[in-house]
Amino acid sequence: MRFGPTGISVTPAERYESAAGNRWPMSIMPAPGELLSSWLHRLAYANGIPPHYFAALLGAPGENWSAQLDRALPDRILQLLEEHTHIPLEDIAALTIAPDPLARLRLPLRASPQQSCAPKTLATWLQFCPACLAEDETPYFRRNWSLATRVSCFRHGCRLRDRCPSCGQGLAPFSQKRLVPHQICALCGTALCKRTRPATNRVRRLERLIDDLLRLHAVGYRMSDGRSLPDLLGSACFQFGRRPMSIARLPHRDRYHLFRQLTEGRSTPFGTRRNPAIAYWRRAAQAAPAWRGLVTSFSDAVLPRPKAGPCPTTAGPYLADLIQAAARLHQKRQAF
Ligand SMILES: [Zn+2]
Ligand SMILES: [Zn+2]
Repeated sequence: MRFGPTGISVTPAERYESAAGNRWPMSIMPAPGELLSSWLHRLAYANGIPPHYFAALLGAPGENWSAQLDRALPDRILQLLEEHTHIPLEDIAALTIAPDPLARLRLPLRASPQQSCAPKTLATWLQFCPACLAEDETPYFRRNWSLATRVSCFRHGCRLRDRCPSCGQGLAPFSQKRLVPHQICALCGTALCKRTRPATNRVRRLERLIDDLLRLHAVGYRMSDGRSLPDLLGSACFQFGRRPMSIARLPHRDRYHLFRQLTEGRSTPFGTRRNPAIAYWRRAAQAAPAWRGLVTSFSDAVLPRPKAGPCPTTAGPYLADLIQAAARLHQKRQAF
């Protein structure tokens, strides 16, 4: 292998090569729900190569190379990874967020490394739950942390974070030039596991409702008029600061604030013009307090009830949609 501007090369000794073939010394299995870039950083670290130099080894261009690969993984790099890790191609490809049915709601990736770190008024490319990172046996970053509609952790109930708690910059693990694990800020060296405050129950219910709706969309369920739910949610503009911005352009602080305003019935930072997207956000906020979660609703609908009662007349078509969607959900979970 050859990497870095100095052209350092590593050649396996004859005996090692005969024992291990072309396999890299350490093979790391992806964790459930892990994002490709997270796995690549862990793979690089385990093999003793800082992520900045691992990019050259893979032939991946750009300072934020690993985040770019999350969105588009060339066949050449996919095959190289399979060849050196012996992890099946389809398992590696499943770590990406491409093709992405939720692209409209995905946090933006900017071209330059300075922009990737993002000023505090703008969204960063990735969020994280500090409690998850602290508890993981091997800390890793999840695919669903790249969605703008996620503001808290479903497991811990705490708010997510989109910046280093010390230097306030967005994450830049792809730039790390030292052999340091990715749960340490690459820009200032602070651990990212400092706890955040809990999210309110109302915010968590709205977030859960939207997450369930997006899961149904990801497996093919469509609104009655055929409109795309991510496009509808992503097209609403909110007024934070000087310019109206869609939810995917807002930093975590503003998105969490928005969810609170919506769920507490306070005046929301919508523009003055009414449009279907804004009406849909408001309807979701109104429905959220009574929402019990997709799995609970589904099991209530299909499992025997303790007391037999009349079926509601609307149960038929909705039940059929849910059964179909749940079956496809299991098959296409990786697309989320
Ligand atoms: Zn968590
Ligand atoms: Zn930092």
